[in-house]
Amino acid sequence: MNNICTNDIDFDKAHIWHPYTSMTNPLPSYKVKSAHQCTLTLDDGKEVIDGMSSWWAVVHGYNHPRLNAAIKNQVDNVSHVMFGGITHQPAIDLCRKLITLTPDRLEKVFLADSGSVSVEVAIKMAFQYWQSLGKSEKSKLLTVRNGYHGDTFAAMSVCDPVNGMHHIFKESMQQHLFAPTPTPAFGEKWDDSHIKELTTLFKNHHQHIAAFIIEPIVQGAGGMRMYHPEYLKACRRLCDKFDVLLICDEIATGFGRTGKWFGCDWADITPDIMCLGKAITGGYMTLAATMTTKKVAEVISNGEAGCFMHGPTFMGNPLACAVANESIALLMEDQWQDQVANIELQLNALLSPLKSHKRVNDIRVLGAIGVVEASHAVNMPVIQALFVEHGVWIRPFGKLIYLMPPYVMTDGELQQLVAAINIALDSDDCFNA
Ligand code: PMP
Repeated sequence: MNNICTNDIDFDKAHIWHPYTSMTNPLPSYKVKSAHQCTLTLDDGKEVIDGMSSWWAVVHGYNHPRLNAAIKNQVDNVSHVMFGGITHQPAIDLCRKLITLTPDRLEKVFLADSGSVSVEVAIKMAFQYWQSLGKSEKSKLLTVRNGYHGDTFAAMSVCDPVNGMHHIFKESMQQHLFAPTPTPAFGEKWDDSHIKELTTLFKNHHQHIAAFIIEPIVQGAGGMRMYHPEYLKACRRLCDKFDVLLICDEIATGFGRTGKWFGCDWADITPDIMCLGKAITGGYMTLAATMTTKKVAEVISNGEAGCFMHGPTFMGNPLACAVANESIALLMEDQWQDQVANIELQLNALLSPLKSHKRVNDIRVLGAIGVVEASHAVNMPVIQALFVEHGVWIRPFGKLIYLMPPYVMTDGELQQLVAAINIALDSDDCFNA
């Protein structure tokens, strides 16, 4: 290779794929030099307040002394070791914590290496469960519109069929069943009419449905919507009635983001399978977990294969488990409840006045999540540059400008984030006509 660019940003632009952008005409990438608490420092010294928690993971802020120490200590013991035939203290400690914190009956843990993989694992568990029971005709999944579960194939097949990637991969992807988007919104009045179509789908197709998969209470990347806990309760009832496994994808909602430890806690339900990721390591390393019940684990283990057919190379990575242990220990010290409650209060106060803005369709707040749904899609490069110029890191998608700050964010920092959103909303250039 002769003509590799010497300038780093040009090299990055020419050779490195970034998420969801063109390789020939990519959106700009901002180079980060360091990060501390809620602030990212860019290469040119500019500081921006991170309203995204690095895709909802960095709940304790960056460069946390206790999380740093946990990783450093673990490096001196063992950084990685295969999980086949071997176990280690960080994994044991982590799984103990997860079993204690998650709803009762979730007592078997499969450590996966990313959120999408944990969803693949959950779906494989469901299929293998029914196969082990001699019901391999139960090979479809049921889900809801506006969901998001990851970018790998099985995960992608249960993402929203319109705003997901279904049309591009239609020929090579399994086709599943979709119920309408969960309603009513969180805080609105519940009545049973909201589950009419969902109930019909269960009734008509249950013989072929292995599992129903849903993000509990908050639908994240598929639309940033919050729905009524009664809907989730009804999902549990329908799954029981029609002999369908319930998979709750808590990858975005887990570890306090919605104001409860887990989204499921709002409805007081236990899924048959639960996926965890993102904030599990406080955003330090990639790690996820798929948890299930004794019953599901026993059926799979007593089936034809005699084991669950999955085993990633970096399963249970000790560094990731060590930092996850420390991150969860920090959460267990119980400050997050007050922090998240305060963020919710602030976001409500700061975002509510935007409801009357001509460019705003809706404002939604729950826990440490604030969403401004605009009337038009954003112009990404323009709005991104404006946010950086005003000292904030906010990464909208489509019509959705949202905040998911680290739990340690101060009121002043939140005010700065919302002030920048106000400026963007007033700028014609930030939106596609
Ligand atoms: N499920 C949900 C609910 C998510 O929000 C995400 C990530 N945004 C995923 C799954 C996929 O996780 P990962 O990006 O770690 O593969």
